[in-house]
Amino acid sequence: MKTIARLLLAACLAAAGGAQAASKPPLVLVHGFLGFDRSTMGGSFLYWGGFNDIAQYIRAGSGRDVFTAGVGPVSSNWDRAIELYYQIKGGCADYGERHAAQHAGAGHIQKPLGKCWAADPTNNPNNYPLALYPQWDANHPIHLLGHSQGGQTIRTLIQMLDQGTVGQAGASHWVISATSIATPHNGTTLRDVVVGWLPDTSTLAGLAVQATGAGGSGGSGFKFRLEQYGMAASTAESFKEFFDRTRSHPFWNLANHDSAQWDLTPDGARELNSWVKTSPSVYYFSVSAQATESLTLFGKEFQYPRADMSLILKNTAGEWVVPSFGQRGMGSFQQTAAGRVPTDERWFPNDGVVNTISMAGPEGSRIQALDGKPAKGVWNHLELMKGADHFDVIGWDGKPSASLKMYDRLMAILAGLD
Ligand SMILES: [Zn+2]
Repeated sequence: MKTIARLLLAACLAAAGGAQAASKPPLVLVHGFLGFDRSTMGGSFLYWGGFNDIAQYIRAGSGRDVFTAGVGPVSSNWDRAIELYYQIKGGCADYGERHAAQHAGAGHIQKPLGKCWAADPTNNPNNYPLALYPQWDANHPIHLLGHSQGGQTIRTLIQMLDQGTVGQAGASHWVISATSIATPHNGTTLRDVVVGWLPDTSTLAGLAVQATGAGGSGGSGFKFRLEQYGMAASTAESFKEFFDRTRSHPFWNLANHDSAQWDLTPDGARELNSWVKTSPSVYYFSVSAQATESLTLFGKEFQYPRADMSLILKNTAGEWVVPSFGQRGMGSFQQTAAGRVPTDERWFPNDGVVNTISMAGPEGSRIQALDGKPAKGVWNHLELMKGADHFDVIGWDGKPSASLKMYDRLMAILAGLD
């Protein structure tokens, strides 16, 4: 009997040891505008890594669980943060009575079908996808990392935890750290560039269809996740078929401010920053990127895209939109209209999608270069990745990606905060 007891005890200790290793706070990765999940494209090309697998890379290197969330790829940060909360914790997305009423004219639904995650796999009669980390609470906090719009989304979630829009008020300490990579904290001038260039294309989603050529390929598995606007896509529908079918829906209208295309503009970001604050209980980190270089000609400085920049980003990054000479690209676009956020020459350098100046942290927050020990309630700027475009920073540059070093550095810092 003693031997059996010892064996049992040994087994329990081993199990406890294993649990301890896995009990490091997990990291949740949140994609940006037009992001997609692991099942899209058959898993052969990942949002987080391209032909690399950044989630797996971090998991292996840090010993912590890494989850890749899937939120609305064209939705507002409000909607995305709500989805992120329920996806991590479990339950059905509730976008809030007041928020849904505010956008009822565009068809917003407060609690749409098809946006639920199961917290308990043994009690899941509707076969919902499983919640990522249902034990999430003050004693089981997490780290968040967002690319591009994902950085705005994780800030929004922290604000919602603080004010009790989700869960109970005062819960921002459920998040240990939030890291943004190439995030348009103060917006990007890309939409104005695009709307000026293609006035018939009323939305960035329309541009994306054209730019990526994704319209032709049926069944890519891309999910718009717009159930909260009553637009469920069928799995057989291609990106373009869905867009063609729904393009007259008021959601796509430029006047709709409950959408990514508004939140990503300097004016939309200013509105977001007016209520999404930097929490004093969270460590914030930011990483910037710049893929344009400048050249002085006839006494004037010009921005031009580097030769190795992604082809789909090159058209709009430089002085002029290619091939529409006369239309200003992000490298020379300025905004001076009254009532709008002014953008001057400091906004010219960019990574093809976002102005570099926008990436260090939101206007009105304290931003400082990370030098030694990070501080809470401050944006600790990790580094400027020169020569990296908007997608190089998530590993699309090649295999192995040059960005992995940055992830190594970040993980070493997070390890000190667990
Ligand atoms: Zn909404």
